Amino acid sequence: MDLRLSPEHEAFRAEARSFLDDRLGGRFAKVRGRGGPGDEHVLFDERWAWEQELGRHNWIGLGWPTEYGGRGASLFEQVIFYEEYARSGGPGRVGIVNEGLIGPTLVHFGDEAQKRRFLPRILDGTELWCQGYSEPNAGSDLANVSTKAVRDGDEWSIHGQKVWTSLAHWAQWCFVVCRTDPESKRHKGLSYVLAPMDQPGIEIRPIVQITGTSEFNEVFFDGARARIDHTVGGEGNGWKVAMGTLAFERGASTLGQQLGFERELGTITDLARRNGLTSDPVFRQRLAEAWITLRVMRFHALRTLSVLEHGDVSRETSIHKLFWANFHRGLGELAVDVQGANGMIADGPIETPEDERYPLDLMQRLFLYSRADTIYGGSNQIQRNVIGERALGLPPEPKVV
Ligand SMILES: Cc1cc2nc3c(=O)[nH]c(=O)nc-3n(C[C@H](O)[C@H](O)[C@H](O)COP(=O)(O)OP(=O)(O)OC[C@H]3O[C@@H](n4cnc5c(N)ncnc54)[C@H](O)[C@@H]3O)c2cc1C
Repeated sequence: MDLRLSPEHEAFRAEARSFLDDRLGGRFAKVRGRGGPGDEHVLFDERWAWEQELGRHNWIGLGWPTEYGGRGASLFEQVIFYEEYARSGGPGRVGIVNEGLIGPTLVHFGDEAQKRRFLPRILDGTELWCQGYSEPNAGSDLANVSTKAVRDGDEWSIHGQKVWTSLAHWAQWCFVVCRTDPESKRHKGLSYVLAPMDQPGIEIRPIVQITGTSEFNEVFFDGARARIDHTVGGEGNGWKVAMGTLAFERGASTLGQQLGFERELGTITDLARRNGLTSDPVFRQRLAEAWITLRVMRFHALRTLSVLEHGDVSRETSIHKLFWANFHRGLGELAVDVQGANGMIADGPIETPEDERYPLDLMQRLFLYSRADTIYGGSNQIQRNVIGERALGLPPEPKVV
């Protein structure tokens, strides 16, 4: 496999780099490097303005077809953009669910009216979305969803509870996986419904995390309304659409993220230098190991790209998810180990009003937040099950009766 970039790819990289360096060095300097793991609560208004700046310059929806306002960029180009984004210290995206999950889902499964209604506002960053999948009894076992939607004229009336709903407190819309056939069981009889968040039938309760902040929420539906014609993929086809969304979640954006990890490792290595740990044999080993793992991750990402372009992606994306999630959790541990006793003191820099309430530094946030990496988007155990079945040909898991 030829891993060199073509002149066109190099030109695309230069264009992305120039845009990002210009904006993040100027008007948006405040958000540079902020809003990442465990830091997602800060500078919301500024980061929302940044999302819209990306949209104005056509950097959202890179891979979407041009007829829907995307750039029609190849997977390689998308990964190049995500790499440049991470390298330049691009802030955590308030539109991460928009671009990574619901956008590609609508492009793939939405009808024409849904595309025309929703895609432009994802592309210009004016509407934000959240993902209504997990419930108290349906996480890894998503087919156990019990939130119900009952037909009432040309609307659904939704009753039930979702949990761990990231960014629900900011979102204008939620894609809700719910049971529209009351007699159905498991993955049959589910629908993928688009519900507006600002309405009387929805209550959002924040969940406080170990970082002290609340990235995610419980969301209660008590007769919330959604239009029937906002059912993606048609009534009863929710499972297929929901699985499609998950495949996008494990797709291109995660392949470019190792440059963000490299920045984090750079910060940790600088701190190790200052703390005199670069002559400690154990820390030297751990730093070098992390650097090597990042190299392997990059080559694996490139290899995955070629598979993504040609066929069954599920096992490759599961391998990638498992690999980066474990690496990143370990990097968080290395970060606080390098801080030594200081890592135990909440005395981080105060750069924003939110920092006053949660004075953790970025290393501490990385440590705390990265515990979640091996859970969301499919836990480690679930990824291994997928790999067991799709790569090793193991029999499917026995069903619990
Ligand atoms: C930071 C964060 C953000 C999130 N954001 C969202 C969001 O925006 N929207 C949303 O809908 N959800 C979200 N989630 C929820 C996430 O999808 C679930 O946490 C995840 O699917 C696991 O489900 P669970 O928490 O119910 O754990 P469970 O499924 O109950 O799992 C508990 C443990 O059992 C293991 N396990 C479960 N089943 C099996 C099996 N068959 N074989 C082997 N081991 C198994 C799991 O690996 C885990 O270790 C988020 C989670 C986190 C941590």
